[in-house]
Amino acid sequence: MRHDPDRRRFLGVLAVTAVASASLPFVLRSIRPAVAADVPPPKTGPVTLDCFAPDKKPLGTCVEERVVLTDEQWKAKLSTRSYYITRHEGTEPPYTGENWNRHDNGIYRCIGCDTALYDSATKFDSGTGWPSFWQPISKRNIVQKTDRSLLEERIAVNCARCDAHLGHVFDDGPDPTGLRYCMNAGAMRFAPVA
Ligand SMILES: [Zn+2]
Repeated sequence: MRHDPDRRRFLGVLAVTAVASASLPFVLRSIRPAVAADVPPPKTGPVTLDCFAPDKKPLGTCVEERVVLTDEQWKAKLSTRSYYITRHEGTEPPYTGENWNRHDNGIYRCIGCDTALYDSATKFDSGTGWPSFWQPISKRNIVQKTDRSLLEERIAVNCARCDAHLGHVFDDGPDPTGLRYCMNAGAMRFAPVA
């Protein structure tokens, strides 16, 4: 019987593909974060944001490149706490974040890409132990996603530029919006205004 090298190579490819296909569902399940069940791959390219000067003065809209890094790159760039919160939908224990109880004037910026997220003027004491705001500094700068990781459906809040998970928004906040943006302090850097 004559061996056909091309046919043998083809059968070999089929065998490898079958093994890979059989193990793929397990791999996908094991790495899929809770919030990302129906979330497409990270967007790349430019994103339109509202930008702010260090003194909080609005600079109008600006176009920035999205920040897209690998999991390993994020791990190297961030502290363990910030990495867990922002890249794996983690939640820090209440009353432990560096900025949960500060009330001085400034801007809370994304720990991953420095995008302006919250103005200290909208921060309020929610009694939860997490930094809480009644509105973001700009709706352009955040993205809201449905989070079904718990029995109760929640709205997760992410950074529009680097897709960092920041926290959740609830409808039990104070006037004037009635919203409570419940953030992880470890997802943000506080930039004081003198
Ligand atoms: Zn960001």
